[in-house]
Amino acid sequence: MTTRPNRLNQHLHGKLHVVPSPMCSCGEAEQDTAHILRDCRNHQVLREEIWPLPESLHNKLYGPVAALQRTTNYISRSGLQV
Ligand SMILES: [Zn+2]
Repeated sequence: MTTRPNRLNQHLHGKLHVVPSPMCSCGEAEQDTAHILRDCRNHQVLREEIWPLPESLHNKLYGPVAALQRTTNYISRSGLQV
């Protein structure tokens, strides 16, 4: 059994009520961390720019500093409120 990743929008939805829905703006999934970092088509272009080579989700979240800096850069440039 694996633990679920942190949720961005859903977390805010539950705690602060600052967003209307935990669904991602792309409408395809809940806006959780894995979706944003790995799957969301709204951020496909940016994601390919930040990670031109495949990077595991684990590394994006817990990897070496250089990997975490990419993740930070991605979130920052995506315009997501986290
Ligand atoms: Zn999405």
